[in-house]
Amino acid sequence: MMVAALAVPQISMNSQSDQVKHPEINEDISGLPVRKFDVIVAGGGTAGVMAAVAAARQGAKTALIESKGYPGGTVVEGGTALHSFFNLWKAFPGVEKRQVVKGLAQEIIDRLMPVGGTTGHADTTTRYDYDSVCTAIDTELYKLKAFEMLAEAGVFICVNTLVAGAVKKGSEVEGVITQSRMGREFFKARCFVDCTAYGDLSAYCGADYIELNDHPVCNSMGLGNVKIEKLYDFLKVNNAVGDIALGLRSGKESQIIRMGAEGTGSSNNTLPAGFVDGIKQLGSGLITTTVHDNYLMFIKVNYKMDISPTNRDEVAKAELIIRQNQYKTLELFKQYLPGCEKAFIARTSPSLNIRRGRTIICDYDITSEDVLEGKHFDDDIMVYGFHDEAPRLQIKNGGTYGVPYKALIVKNIENLLAAGMLITSDHSAHMSTRNTVCCMGQGQAAGTAAALCAAKKCGTRELQYSDLRKKLENDNVYFETG
Ligand SMILES: Cc1cc2nc3c(=O)[nH]c(=O)nc-3n(C[C@H](O)[C@H](O)[C@H](O)COP(=O)(O)OP(=O)(O)OC[C@H]3O[C@@H](n4cnc5c(N)ncnc54)[C@H](O)[C@@H]3O)c2cc1C
Repeated sequence: MMVAALAVPQISMNSQSDQVKHPEINEDISGLPVRKFDVIVAGGGTAGVMAAVAAARQGAKTALIESKGYPGGTVVEGGTALHSFFNLWKAFPGVEKRQVVKGLAQEIIDRLMPVGGTTGHADTTTRYDYDSVCTAIDTELYKLKAFEMLAEAGVFICVNTLVAGAVKKGSEVEGVITQSRMGREFFKARCFVDCTAYGDLSAYCGADYIELNDHPVCNSMGLGNVKIEKLYDFLKVNNAVGDIALGLRSGKESQIIRMGAEGTGSSNNTLPAGFVDGIKQLGSGLITTTVHDNYLMFIKVNYKMDISPTNRDEVAKAELIIRQNQYKTLELFKQYLPGCEKAFIARTSPSLNIRRGRTIICDYDITSEDVLEGKHFDDDIMVYGFHDEAPRLQIKNGGTYGVPYKALIVKNIENLLAAGMLITSDHSAHMSTRNTVCCMGQGQAAGTAAALCAAKKCGTRELQYSDLRKKLENDNVYFETG
């Protein structure tokens, strides 16, 4: 069956895109209620949760401002295999297995384990040259555990609250303007961390940024009522098995927890042409992780926008198209894939996910050479060993590179740090630094640095690296250089 046969009504909408309004800086705040903090973290996603917990645990009075009703961000909506806590040891015989990201990122996995919210670090059994480990999470339990970590740390948690503007005094950020159903408020602090992925806070602060639009956007969906082993057998018979990892699923060890079809690009496989053509046309993928029986947690439907996903009107069109394509993808799965005959869409992301929005210009921009050659800096705040384009691009000898503190310092602003997918302009380098576990490590370091800056009443560039390093080491962050 051709995908066209699954046509859904085409709707013409939002033709106003030319009237783009750029972020406004220093709007009038007179009359707004004022709240005072030491540290404000904008965006409670993958990096932001870690930043806020890290800052608050040091005693900084910390507020987290998150536009959705829960914390988690893209880690609970797009990328549900957490790449990667380890170096790529399996691809490099003789190289030692090392857990290279620990700290708060490992703590949330430890909190998920007793409630059945993770597979743990499960070894991959195929495609060692991509990742040696698959760490999958239950996205709903992750939201809960992240929320609890924030509350226990004493973070003032503002969910359903948008960072809508900022006020600067010279090169310092004075505060952020928020919008919630309580109206507009002004949140002041000594130090700020932008973890919004889109770089909203930095843009409102007048930071320099670029919009590369070098990735498709996506909405991933979970499919329920699926017989995983039946689907695996079908892929095997058709020479289409790709990534496989075995681990803890619904309380049982050695179950399939990651499964990919070598799909759709390989000439050896004998998957039905109607299926292969259909999912290619729709931008859908057949690679998934799961923590539960009968559930494919993560089926991607990609869509390449012509312009950057900061454009509201173009995003509105993309949101509709992707939802149409999710439905068509479901129909293809039901028709062609044994085990999926009675599947249904159990979860979608509340809004499309980006791989890149604004890239914020920081004091240092990590290059692909830094990543691939395994460069370490004299101000490393973490190390990392995964590259999303492996095996084509891997970190030298299954090692690690360092993320330097200066890569988090927003250029030309005294008291603003950035962490997450919004740093790193080089496409290949970003294909490493944007991954979840790297974002979490960056978040922990940025939150720690912000709290230190607030306590010492210094700017982000005046902070002594030795103080930051000592604090991170005390908080179980792993380093490979002295
Ligand atoms: C489809 C897809 C698949 C992926 N697959 C993987 C994978 O398998 N493994 C992997 O490791 N990585 C994967 N990634 C990459 C990874 O998930 C992301 O790069 C990473 O999670 C980004 O983290 P972040 O903290 O920068 O942003 P996010 O986690 O997106 O956090 C940003 C937060 O800021 C909030 N926010 C935004 N603007 C505002 C505002 N103005 N006011 C208040 N709050 C705001 C958002 O609601 C969100 O909670 C994938 C990404 C995508 C899109």
